[in-house]
Amino acid sequence: MDFMKATIVEIKKLTADVSSFLFRLEDSKHFYYQAGQFVMLKAFVNGKKIERAYSIASPPPRDLVHAEYIELIIKLVPGGKLTSHLFSLKPGAAIELAGPLGKMTLKEPIQEGDIFMATGTGIAPFMSMLRKAFRDNNPKLFYLFLGVRTKEDIIYEDELYEWQKNHKNFHIIITISQPEDGWDGEVGYVQDKLVKYVKDFKNKQAYLCGLPVMVEQSKELLIELGVNSDNIYKEEY
Ligand SMILES: Cc1cc2nc3c(=O)[nH]c(=O)nc-3n(C[C@H](O)[C@H](O)[C@H](O)COP(=O)(O)OP(=O)(O)OC[C@H]3O[C@@H](n4cnc5c(N)ncnc54)[C@H](O)[C@@H]3O)c2cc1C
Repeated sequence: MDFMKATIVEIKKLTADVSSFLFRLEDSKHFYYQAGQFVMLKAFVNGKKIERAYSIASPPPRDLVHAEYIELIIKLVPGGKLTSHLFSLKPGAAIELAGPLGKMTLKEPIQEGDIFMATGTGIAPFMSMLRKAFRDNNPKLFYLFLGVRTKEDIIYEDELYEWQKNHKNFHIIITISQPEDGWDGEVGYVQDKLVKYVKDFKNKQAYLCGLPVMVEQSKELLIELGVNSDNIYKEEY
């Protein structure tokens, strides 16, 4: 794999343990990718080489300037080798990345009733897909099911609700597994909310990303409900 040098230009805290990292490629390099793909990050920690995969959250670049930048959404895993290192870095720090990789790409244009299902940072590739869809003024109705532990764990809450407010064709269903007082939205797992909101599963496409248990159970359920397994695209973290 060919790694390129990149510099962290911005780190934004999104939740208690998730941050957005904006990287800029060095050496006048540009990076083109499809919505939904991921990169490998490489770093040397205590002299040991560590490589991990991260989905790209920024939309595919429209021009040369945007093609110098990549946004990743990363969760700090307690004791995690690469994330502990990444979260100790400050803007200006260097890292290496390679890609783009992965086949869970957005099949364009979005089809009527496309379903996106994510848990936690599994929203990252969908941020890329949805940012592109809204940039392109996609007119089709589609659903985003997002499962998180508590309300405080919703990543990019403002951007998601802004889309919901401004786009009648976008349905977002956020479900929380550990609700606190005052939460009047859905409670439980994303896979258990599907049939409440989607009435017709024939000829539908579904994108699944996040915890393996959610991805596997959702895939089984979607097939049972009539979705063709060739139309289910997934990435497990
Ligand atoms: C295709 C792909 C895309 C991915 N995209 C993203 C992304 O966009 N954002 C992101 O944050 N991660 C993403 N991941 C996960 C990422 O690659 C790392 O596995 C994760 O960041 C942990 O790395 P680490 O070196 O810090 O932990 P490690 O040192 O590898 O793991 C430490 C321990 O934590 C456990 N662990 C690993 N991940 C988690 C987790 N998420 N929650 C709880 N425990 C965990 C491990 O099983 C291990 O026991 C992606 C993975 C894949 C395969």
